[in-house]
Amino acid sequence: MLNRRDFLAAGLAAPLAYAAGSFVPAWAQSAPNFGAPTLPNPGFRRMKMGDVEIISLIDGIARRPLGEEFVKNAPLAEVKALLTSQGLPTDYIDVPFTPFLVVAGNRRILMDTGLGEWGGPTTGKLLENLRAAGFQAGDIDTVLITHYHGDHINGLRNKAGEFVFSKAKVLVPSVEHGFWMDDAKMAAAPAGMKGAFDNVRRTFAQMPAGMLQRFEPGTEVLPGIKSIAAFGHTPGHTLFEVASAGQTFTFVGDLTNVPALFARNPDWAVTFDMDAEAARKVRREVFQRITASGSMLGGFHFPFPAFGKMAASGSGYAFQAIA
Ligand SMILES: [Zn+2]
Repeated sequence: MLNRRDFLAAGLAAPLAYAAGSFVPAWAQSAPNFGAPTLPNPGFRRMKMGDVEIISLIDGIARRPLGEEFVKNAPLAEVKALLTSQGLPTDYIDVPFTPFLVVAGNRRILMDTGLGEWGGPTTGKLLENLRAAGFQAGDIDTVLITHYHGDHINGLRNKAGEFVFSKAKVLVPSVEHGFWMDDAKMAAAPAGMKGAFDNVRRTFAQMPAGMLQRFEPGTEVLPGIKSIAAFGHTPGHTLFEVASAGQTFTFVGDLTNVPALFARNPDWAVTFDMDAEAARKVRREVFQRITASGSMLGGFHFPFPAFGKMAASGSGYAFQAIA
């Protein structure tokens, strides 16, 4: 069960409160206990694509009560009906957190970092699963960040203040960095959003010179890896497209939260989308393109192994995980 501290640590309270207008929603404190989510074991999955290997690595799963606020623009009864039609529970939502590792030649590129030491007991498993897959934190040469919500950046730094991927360059979208590091934006933000700004500052404070590198979304960030602007979920939310031997894999970050809801209904807005209309448009555009090309995709909040393909389904899309 997620308690108040888990929400704060997850960096989830802030965007949620931003929408709700209060710091901690009442249901977060009085939620019934739905039990703990089951973590996959092993917590990694390898996929070969051309000359590269892509490995999904689960950091954990947070189980949260499903309330009216989770989908901002649909009645709870409709949300529950969609879950029921897919054989999913309706009292709670399991939200997985899944960074990806790209192994390309001698490069080891991690995409997003999970919650690290800052989340609840069913999260923070990235390093364990990285080791199980045969890698150490020190092997990572590059970390690519999609956006600055806590579940994506908190794993960069442990509670002792050390940078976990000590040999890595950390590549961040310039727009995203600019927004969260802007003192005027922080001062103007609603009280409930201040925690998310503080979290970003704690994470990036005194990052050694040369470790942090900003890129313009839309540019190639590494050989064979292109960044794609997908602003909406956050002001600088960015995707990464890995290409090898004529095939592509797109890491879509938080283009959707759980696909059982937000791929099936791309017009639904999760409570964490900061600009719901921009997020809705880019979600439709990207899914349309990925479906038409038949390319692989992976999503941070997709069910394990979190990569597969998207297929058109009704007025939306259905995620089909690889077997
Ligand atoms: Zn997220």
